[in-house]
Amino acid sequence: MQIKSIRGFNDILPDKIKRWHHIESTAKEILELYGFSEIRTPVIEFTDIFARSLGTTTDIVEKEMYTFTDRDGSSLTLRPEGTAGVVRAYIEHALYSISPIWKLYYMGMMFRHERPQKGRYRGFYQIGAELFGSKDPFSDAEVITMLWRFFEAIGISNYLTLEISSIGDDRCRPLYRSKLIEFFSSRKDTLCRDCLRRLQQNPIRILDCKQEGCKQLTQDAPSILDNLCKECSEHFESVQKNLQNIGINFAINPRIVRGLDYYTRTVFEVTTKELGAQNAVGAGGRYDKLVEELGGPPTPAIGFAIGMERVVLLHEKAFPEDFKKQVDVFIAYIGSEAKKKAFLIADQLRRNSIATELDYEDRSLKSQLKRADKLGARFTIIIGEDELKQDKVKLRNMKESTEEEIKFEDIFPKLKNTCSHLSNTTSDFHRNQKAL
Ligand SMILES: [Zn+2]
Ligand SMILES: [Zn+2]
Repeated sequence: MQIKSIRGFNDILPDKIKRWHHIESTAKEILELYGFSEIRTPVIEFTDIFARSLGTTTDIVEKEMYTFTDRDGSSLTLRPEGTAGVVRAYIEHALYSISPIWKLYYMGMMFRHERPQKGRYRGFYQIGAELFGSKDPFSDAEVITMLWRFFEAIGISNYLTLEISSIGDDRCRPLYRSKLIEFFSSRKDTLCRDCLRRLQQNPIRILDCKQEGCKQLTQDAPSILDNLCKECSEHFESVQKNLQNIGINFAINPRIVRGLDYYTRTVFEVTTKELGAQNAVGAGGRYDKLVEELGGPPTPAIGFAIGMERVVLLHEKAFPEDFKKQVDVFIAYIGSEAKKKAFLIADQLRRNSIATELDYEDRSLKSQLKRADKLGARFTIIIGEDELKQDKVKLRNMKESTEEEIKFEDIFPKLKNTCSHLSNTTSDFHRNQKAL
């Protein structure tokens, strides 16, 4: 039998990874501008953490988790989302006792046993942010704005729509819940089988059902926005005003339910029509009760998660050209003495932050130049026997198709300005290297 990966799990090969890096580093940059710090939590937690935070009647917990029994008999689950683990870490390390406000972000793989389709996989990547310690509507607006600015920064916001709503809190939601039960109970025969079950357990989720019959029915269902208590209503008003003030466009969609139980008040989704049925690219909301429910002190919080695969699909649409690895210089050589010299020059250039590549297979000059072309090198250095004797190399500018002979010691000064990545943010490593 041939070896292969598990259904719904993908490899991201080097020809794609540059685009991922670009999106991830843009996200990091924006998140840090807003004061967020990265947190890395394990991809695996006790099952209980997810069951308690996501709610036992949610689709994720009921049918999508990768759960198994550890050797000591404890039940473990591969994380289906990022918030629960971050909240667990927040409580476990008593971060609340160190600072009243925490802004945390994560990037990593999540696992859900769903039916795989384009843009939706069983192993998938998310970037998420969580803000702990503020219930102020300015925080909601800040987090939503940050999400939107990220989509603007990577150039896909034209494909996207931001929708917001409020789903109330434990003061107004129970009343709304009973109104919904009353409404749907008299229309039971139109509900699908899943929704019949939801009717008693989690009636708000009926609003989210994708079945036509249920969809039709929910048109006339009471709206949560007409049933918010005074405080929730004022909070939601204020979130909207704050967004309007800084020019963030949004629509109000009272049918945003979010699949998870932990949300309170503000919920939001960023959707696209470009990817067929899988239309949420990023989503989140406020979860003021979760920290307390998992055993921490009462702590308001708000966050979101972005689906990387869908962002990548939209980014490919917006920027179809290849995101290639950049090679600055390729060194071609003829003969074993020139090979030694090439090896030395490559080391010097790399230590000076110039991306350099060369072959060690002693292939013909022609095939070395072919590879330089294929790698998209901006310059090719050619060292032949004649050049070697004169302490010189040929320097070919591949884009302008010009060539000149220069001395060894002039190579770096010549290439420094056009090629060195020293001014880039990734150059701390190189700066330290030079200091050594
Ligand atoms: Zn239904
Ligand atoms: Zn309320």
